[in-house]
Amino acid sequence: MRIVLISTYELGHQPFGLASPVTWLLAEGFEVRTFDLAIEKLEHDAVRNAEFVGFYLPMHTATRIAVPVISAVRQRNPSAHICAYGLYAPMNAKYLQRLGVDSVVGGEFEGEIVRIAKQVAGNGSPDANETREEVIFLRKQSFKIPTRRDLPELSKYAFLTMPDGSRRIVGYTEASRGCKHLCRHCPIVPVYNGRFMIVQRDVVIGDIEQQVRAGAAHITFGDPDFFNGVGHATRIVSTLHHNWPELTYDVTIKIEHLVKHAEHLKTLKDTGCLFVTSAVESVDDDILEKLDKGHTRKDFFRAVELCRNVELGLNPTFVAFIPWITLAGYRDLLQTILELNLVDAVAPVQLAIRLLIPEGSRLLELPDVAALTAGFDERRLCYPWRHADARVDELQAAVEAIVEEACSSDLPRAEIFERIWRETNRAMGERNRMQIDLSSQNSRKLPYLSENWYCCAEPTKQQMEIFI
Ligand code: SF4
Repeated sequence: MRIVLISTYELGHQPFGLASPVTWLLAEGFEVRTFDLAIEKLEHDAVRNAEFVGFYLPMHTATRIAVPVISAVRQRNPSAHICAYGLYAPMNAKYLQRLGVDSVVGGEFEGEIVRIAKQVAGNGSPDANETREEVIFLRKQSFKIPTRRDLPELSKYAFLTMPDGSRRIVGYTEASRGCKHLCRHCPIVPVYNGRFMIVQRDVVIGDIEQQVRAGAAHITFGDPDFFNGVGHATRIVSTLHHNWPELTYDVTIKIEHLVKHAEHLKTLKDTGCLFVTSAVESVDDDILEKLDKGHTRKDFFRAVELCRNVELGLNPTFVAFIPWITLAGYRDLLQTILELNLVDAVAPVQLAIRLLIPEGSRLLELPDVAALTAGFDERRLCYPWRHADARVDELQAAVEAIVEEACSSDLPRAEIFERIWRETNRAMGERNRMQIDLSSQNSRKLPYLSENWYCCAEPTKQQMEIFI
């Protein structure tokens, strides 16, 4: 049976969600083609001739971009079985089914995709699943080393720029999936509901090895939280460093774990970790509590200090615009970033991020959030909301425009920050209230990845025009 797997966007790296199921499907004797539409064009003949087409939907942006592609594939090949899989598939199952998707798989998808493909190959039609629970699969799997040979080469994806201006080719892998925490705004929670799954160490190391052979000098670990299984994580990075002493990497770890597992930060540093990304989200304790983030403003300060103590970079991310933020609160966020000397460590897009409420979000449990939304918007795949203070929404739009324009002209982060600062003061009617001194901030002295977009952002026009 001919199978086509399609990814539309995966934050600038080779899609794990294509490479991993390919191995499983090839092992069953299927003929598999993959297309990463962030880099390459879809071959229409391949789609027309396929009996099974899979769409990998790991995040909001990818799903938004996939919507017109799914419709077009359905039109061009009415008889193919279309399967949508990945984190965002179960949450949007009903909508995807109306677009022509036949099966939806969330959670640990590889084994289930094989099961469905076998059923389709045997001319059986897989049972239609109705509820979100029925399309989420959380069985432990024995992973297989992903097959990357047919994906676009690594040099076509996001690269790492070092402080001296040199560039490194970046590979990507996952040592775990899901998360054991239940942060209220997180899209992982409606699917994994506090569980995480380990990718076996030999598979992770094997995947790194093939990417090093393909030219990777740096690896991004895409685990939602690398320290969910801290023993597993430290064993992996020790092996990584032992096998490839020159290889560098980056990871994502929540503030709570940076503080709790502080003794392992030196291990990260010593094994080649260049920086840690951490979802700080807010510096306001009341907002952090609403989000169930498991850390406080003080913990964030402590995490900054702990990382600095071992000279480990920390890249904080934020949900800057959220129903409970005020103009003064937003300026406090800027002020805090400034005081902590983090201007250069924060990607400008982080200062424009507006809370996205997807289907199934735990945020909808909060009466004040539910009251702000006017129902699910299928076109935008979220519950749009308005801030009670219209000036906050206006500021968000202005900051977004500043970031878009500044990023396309590659302005230094400090300059973009200064523009946002001035805009914030203007919104507060305090144009000359405070001058900022950016001279003490780092200026591009930190390594950073070239992909500066974000998984829960509105796709750009350019991204939406990739296929048809
Ligand atoms: S720790 Fe991170 S990945 Fe885990 S639930 Fe919270 S936001 Fe999501």
